Amino acid sequence: ADKPPIIGRFAPSPTGPLHLGSLYTALASFLQARSQQGRWLLRIDDLDTPRNRPDAVAAILNALDNLGLHWDGSVVYQSQQLDAYQAILAQLEQRGCLYRCDCSRKMLGGEAYSGRCRHRQIPPDTDHALRVTTTNQTIRFTDALQGPIAEELLSPHSDFIVRRKDHIIAYQFAVVVDDYLQQVNEIVRGCDLLSATPKQIYLHQLLGYPIPRYLHVPVLVDAQGYKLSKQTLATAVDTRHPTAVLFTLLALLQQQPPVALQQASVTEVLAWAIAHWQPERLRNQQSLGV
Ligand code: GLU
Repeated sequence: ADKPPIIGRFAPSPTGPLHLGSLYTALASFLQARSQQGRWLLRIDDLDTPRNRPDAVAAILNALDNLGLHWDGSVVYQSQQLDAYQAILAQLEQRGCLYRCDCSRKMLGGEAYSGRCRHRQIPPDTDHALRVTTTNQTIRFTDALQGPIAEELLSPHSDFIVRRKDHIIAYQFAVVVDDYLQQVNEIVRGCDLLSATPKQIYLHQLLGYPIPRYLHVPVLVDAQGYKLSKQTLATAVDTRHPTAVLFTLLALLQQQPPVALQQASVTEVLAWAIAHWQPERLRNQQSLGV
């Protein structure tokens, strides 16, 4: 039988324009999909509404477009999938996999969750988050770049939130549902999400979804070692000189682009990059200074 096609995706949160770190991940996932004749999807992770910025989506689409990173199909917005999340939460609730929790952030004091609400039967009309009941087990997976990973789930401390008290669907849950619904089978993203992966694999298993293959690429860090992010005020990348941006990104992806590419068109740069893509050059690197 033919191997199923690779389906990858880029899933930015619209909390601001894309900075170098997010474009780095975008290009890596694009090249990984395209070098395998796969599909590359774009999803906007816009559930955390208080953090969304009004012009961010347009800026993101425009930047990707300028760089020639064209996605397949139409853009999926998580905010338009609320019915799907609710339906799956209801299934999990019926199976007894979820419980209501009214602990405040203050009560948790930055500590691991105590399991306080597991058997409290909080009335549905009290403000509450929904947690998934975990069982003691070791989640193992092999990241294609970072190698074998094992994380022990320690129940009840590992019971995590799938719907927040403010009714916002938690990232951990939404990402699993969406990757399943979009049939994503290969996830390329930054190492900042490596520690979230075991929880997501737990959910994939609980829901009977296939587990995607993962490639966690290094996160770009500044001179102080901090991840480039909107919080560290990483600047939006000026994509009006797309060849220069792509060249910089390819060098940071350790692809050793030939100097002549600096004079090439976006189409030529991307064609070279797809033909020469060697993700293994990023093996075992979790961060990379810029
Ligand atoms: N939206 C998430 C972020 O921007 C990424 C989701 C993912 O790749 O799993 O950090």
